[in-house]
Amino acid sequence: MAAERLAELLKSSKAAVILTGAGISTASGIPDFRGPNGLWSRRRPVYYDDFMSSETARIEYWDYKLESWDIYHRAQPNAVHHAIVALERAGKVVAVLTQNVDGLHRRAGTATERLVELHGTDLLVECQRCHATSDPLPHFDAFRATRRPPTCGCGGILKAATISFGQSLRASDLDRAAVAVRRADLVVALGSTLSVHPAASLPLLAAQRGAPYAIVNRGATDHDGLASVTLRIEGDVTAVVPRAVEAALAHD
Ligand SMILES: [Zn+2]
Repeated sequence: MAAERLAELLKSSKAAVILTGAGISTASGIPDFRGPNGLWSRRRPVYYDDFMSSETARIEYWDYKLESWDIYHRAQPNAVHHAIVALERAGKVVAVLTQNVDGLHRRAGTATERLVELHGTDLLVECQRCHATSDPLPHFDAFRATRRPPTCGCGGILKAATISFGQSLRASDLDRAAVAVRRADLVVALGSTLSVHPAASLPLLAAQRGAPYAIVNRGATDHDGLASVTLRIEGDVTAVVPRAVEAALAHD
């Protein structure tokens, strides 16, 4: 059984790095934005430079954020988020690296010092001038009422604290991820097609150093067939991961 092999890898590990993608949040009711019914198939993404230079682009952006906020706001962490927290509490995880901006790891209880939200978070709004962060809710309410993109008290432009198209990942996040990957004795990629860089290259850094590398995803990934992949489980993460974690943490 593939889940049993994953359980064995987790059981032997004392310093796992977990990388997660959109596939772990679909069971929480968050659609994969890259999938066929995702927002990105209906809306074109707003690039960072356009956002900063055009009021029209900002209105389009906030319109799209309003739509996703209604989904994020209601979503609850699922059994996979909770299984990762159980691994952390057993002292087996050095870092949870996520490509998701839905904040569900945070809400499930993943420790802040272990969590690296590579693409930022939709649970905060950030001023593009003074970099202050705040709760998005009042800004959404104001935008809904006035259709005017929100601004900061300092006069700066507000944007969700996510990495937009045309924007680089935060150097501090990449540094923290790199440090974790260097320490990893196991790397597990969950629910990611491993096609978005640089996030997708992180597990390979650990695998190339000799750490076992397990992938669980429904559908093809860009790392399928690589020699450095130890275990590839095809299937839904919610059907595999909670069971494997439970087995890994069970007393002999
Ligand atoms: Zn500001």
